[in-house]
Amino acid sequence: MNTFGCHSLVWSGGWTENDARHAIESSSKAGYDLVEIAAIDPASVDIDMTRRLLEEYDMGATVSLGLSAETDVSSEDPEAVSRGRELLSDALNIVRGTGGKMLCGVIYSKLGKYDTPVTERGLENSRATMAWLADKAADSGISLGIEFANRYETNVVNTTAQTLAFIDSIGRDNVYAHLDSYHMNIEERSFAEAIQLAASAGKLGYVHVGESHRGALGTGSINWTEFFAALAEAKYDGVITFESFSSKVVHESLSNSLAIWRNLWEDNVELATTALSFMQQGLADARTGVEGQSFRQPTAAQE
Ligand code: MN
Repeated sequence: MNTFGCHSLVWSGGWTENDARHAIESSSKAGYDLVEIAAIDPASVDIDMTRRLLEEYDMGATVSLGLSAETDVSSEDPEAVSRGRELLSDALNIVRGTGGKMLCGVIYSKLGKYDTPVTERGLENSRATMAWLADKAADSGISLGIEFANRYETNVVNTTAQTLAFIDSIGRDNVYAHLDSYHMNIEERSFAEAIQLAASAGKLGYVHVGESHRGALGTGSINWTEFFAALAEAKYDGVITFESFSSKVVHESLSNSLAIWRNLWEDNVELATTALSFMQQGLADARTGVEGQSFRQPTAAQE
């Protein structure tokens, strides 16, 4: 059984107590199991308040973020790397303090457009930071999810294959690939191939479900039949988080980093509710298909 999450930006741009309650309560009412907290500025997140609200609504949490130029751990600037480590450490404290098990997102790079390729030294800084963070996380049973992003949002890893090689070079068991249909749709040859690659490496650790335009599921150009079939084939039973962004709910820096310039929805209750049933139905149909195949195969072989 998968655990379904809803990204906090579906509901709230910030994380004041009112914002947090709105995001947690709305996700719960829409039927989700957990909220993915966008910890772009983790020091501003009140951990005790967040844990209290999660308990009140019996909800889980994961934490995701993207770094900025000032905190870019893939930079050659040791001060940026050091600021990045401090920020990641704060984000890890949120995961730990809310009883979460996953810190994910673009935690290895700036989230945004680069003008040049990553340098060897920058890549090494990013790897070393991930190894350092993974060791701190492991002490609390927390895993890291490396979310590769499309070419306009990072220059470190843009495909599943690159992500797996990056993870391999980090050399820590609690570091996984975090796959996002939105980024995959831009960069991969096929969803099936990419998901299979991560799953067969035992590294499919976290999934984001986002439409091609980041709006409502099923209203863009993503081949959801292929995507859900690949998850079913891989027997993926981890967290699946719905991610959608609109100019209706704005985070002062994240919305700009993600280039959210237009209004893709008004009614986030309908958006989130519909998205959950879309994901559940998509997976259920895919699993029926997969089981149907494995049921038929022996019969065919006997003939
Ligand atoms: Mn994502």
